[in-house]
Amino acid sequence: MNKAVRKAVIAGNWKMNKTPKEAKELLSAVAPLVKEADCEVIACVPFVDLQTAIETTDGTNIKIGAENCHWAESGAFTGEISAPMLKEMGVEYVVLGHSERRQYFGETDETVNKRTKAALRAGLKPIVCVGELLWERECNITEEVIARQIKLDLWDVSAEELKNIIIAYEPVWAIGTGKTATAEQAEEVCAFIRATLAKLYDPAAAEAVTIQYGGSMNDGNADELLGKTNVDGGLIGGASLVAEKFAAIVKAASK
Ligand code: PEP
Repeated sequence: MNKAVRKAVIAGNWKMNKTPKEAKELLSAVAPLVKEADCEVIACVPFVDLQTAIETTDGTNIKIGAENCHWAESGAFTGEISAPMLKEMGVEYVVLGHSERRQYFGETDETVNKRTKAALRAGLKPIVCVGELLWERECNITEEVIARQIKLDLWDVSAEELKNIIIAYEPVWAIGTGKTATAEQAEEVCAFIRATLAKLYDPAAAEAVTIQYGGSMNDGNADELLGKTNVDGGLIGGASLVAEKFAAIVKAASK
């Protein structure tokens, strides 16, 4: 992390876990443990938990995010949720392009880009996820894959809008597998993302972007990963469901 130039951000991604009652319990347990955090703390929760999460974290330093949003403001999209709907509730962040959305729900770079622009228009801060498959890493095309995702996902996003975007580097082979990228691998790709942003925008704009690592980050490996210059935080899946583990990662990011 380089806290002198950008914000450190630890975000939980609860995925399809926790009912509203359980969400209240978990956030009530997390809040006192992270109240001294010297980093941004976010919980991205299922749509049905958002209202409870916003109420439970009122007056705390925990911000609330959603796990997706549609690109249209409203319309005939049964089952979808729009960015203005989230904004009106008090949601601040939204995870977009998570590999599980890409893998199971046909999400493409084009739809991630449309969702990103819709989120920005509504005043939400997108956490845009990119990452290579194991096969792509083995074929030595990680950088090509990441550059393509960054270019397409951020197509037509201005330098001004980039200030409200967090990028999460999540190697797909490390998500939910217990297989973490080494700190060196995470740093290498996060630095590559920053260099790509510098080419697309300018070096100062790229320097200011928070780039998280995600993929089996936990209380045991957070210190080492967050010790790297270009790893500005974490997007945490499994470990965000256990108050003590999530709080330990927040503590590591607060150093
Ligand atoms: C995630 O869901 O974004 C994630 C990184 O999951 P996990 O920490 O469980 O690998």
